[in-house]
Amino acid sequence: MQRRQFLQIAAAGAGAWAAGCGRARATAGKRSVATFCELCFWKCGAVATVEDGRVVKLDGNPADPLSNGRLCPRGNGGTGALYDPDRLKTPLIRIGERGSERFREASWEEALDLVARA
Ligand code: SF4
Repeated sequence: MQRRQFLQIAAAGAGAWAAGCGRARATAGKRSVATFCELCFWKCGAVATVEDGRVVKLDGNPADPLSNGRLCPRGNGGTGALYDPDRLKTPLIRIGERGSERFREASWEEALDLVARA
């Protein structure tokens, strides 16, 4: 990506975010937040509908010149991935034999130190 493209996307994202803020005032308890999909390397621009602090819907951001307001099926299902009870939210360190699937939660600092020592 060239610097010029990056600046265009950043400006478009800021515009969409500002537009979303405007809508937020019009609809009590609901707001739109410009974001992007992280489910693959394309990082498509998205607009998240947030209701009472929870993302309830993802749409493509029409201001994104790469995805032109579209999300693929995987991106459209992004809210499911976000709130999946099995989603990892912290590093895990194995505490049993390999294959026993026994882990404990660890801090990022501890996990990175472990990897750096390996
Ligand atoms: S919407 Fe689809 S193509 Fe775009 S970043 Fe997400 S997973 Fe990738």
